[in-house]
Amino acid sequence: MANHRRIKIIVFFCAIPVCLFLATFPLPFTDKTSPPSHYQQNKFFEQTSQEVTVHFISGKEKGPTLLIFGGIHGDEAAGYLTAERYVRIKIKKGNLIVVPCLNASAMSKGKRQGLGGDMNRLFDLSGTMSQRNPDAKVVDLAKSLIQRADYVINLHQAYDFYAPRWISRQRNPSKWGQSIIDTPVYHLHNGEKLEPGRFAQKVSRRSNNRIMDRNFHFLVNNTDTSGHKSRHKEQQGSLTYYALTKQHKVSLAVEATKNCSLPEAIAFLTIAVNSALEEAGIQPDPPPSDDFLMISREMKEKRRGKIVSVSSLAASKAAPGMVRTDFSKLFWSTPAILDQIVKTIPAGRITEPADVVYPVLLLCSPYADYITGQTVLVDGGATAI
Ligand SMILES: [Zn+2]
Repeated sequence: MANHRRIKIIVFFCAIPVCLFLATFPLPFTDKTSPPSHYQQNKFFEQTSQEVTVHFISGKEKGPTLLIFGGIHGDEAAGYLTAERYVRIKIKKGNLIVVPCLNASAMSKGKRQGLGGDMNRLFDLSGTMSQRNPDAKVVDLAKSLIQRADYVINLHQAYDFYAPRWISRQRNPSKWGQSIIDTPVYHLHNGEKLEPGRFAQKVSRRSNNRIMDRNFHFLVNNTDTSGHKSRHKEQQGSLTYYALTKQHKVSLAVEATKNCSLPEAIAFLTIAVNSALEEAGIQPDPPPSDDFLMISREMKEKRRGKIVSVSSLAASKAAPGMVRTDFSKLFWSTPAILDQIVKTIPAGRITEPADVVYPVLLLCSPYADYITGQTVLVDGGATAI
């Protein structure tokens, strides 16, 4: 998982009723941006754990199409969050197809693998192997989208830093962070050749001009996937290798390092995507900002908007005690039991739903921006005695 701060709230006495209450309570998050003019959104496998949303954005002027994938691995949040920043931009020239979260089941678990294993190793499956895999339909969807693109970028995140030679345990050829992965040249049957390597070099150079700290410069990582001596034969099942070899699209995987904050990783990936757009001749109007502070603010808004994720409340453990809801009616409507419980609460009464809701709203508001990682007990003093 990304190494970013998450506010974890465990609110005693309240898990289920508060969630129900919050579901009907107006949340302090609204998306103020309106969709661009030439915009279409399609959902696939709706209402399932593999739901995929695809955003199509086209510019007024004709031009090439770049396809961005995020979230093929569920533990690489920067890829997903970066792709999501492109779904509402406007474009002057060219087209974008954006799939922020290709592997929803992996994302929901926060794990690399989804229902069918590592999805980035499934693109070379065929026959019964493919039919048996529960992610095959998602892979087929990705393949059909690749058909519509000229350029493909798959966004990832990994620990440490790629270096072509061994420098240290953190920087060496077996690491992936801050690299742009490609196969430099691919020869087509008709004698022509595709050169993703040249494109990757240009994207890398353009990106590095915008990255002040040389330690975070992108390096091109030639995996030589089809070579006999390749140390990365597993990449033959990857999305980008499929896009290059089967559909002859210029395709890159971009890896941001996990050795930085989440907003920084998003900034690096944004820089790389913006550079690829420029190199491809696609003109956003304007591109998403690659300013770290701006991205930090965006993330804060999202966190607030998602009310610290209602699911984090749902996942919290129900501690002994009760809130006056239907869920516990059997207890609080029985005077003898109620008396016993109230005796253990200094406030002299059991918890009402609003007792819990207001502290949660406070924590989700700007007034609590500096409170992180805390456990808040809302129990009328029961645990204080
Ligand atoms: Zn990955």
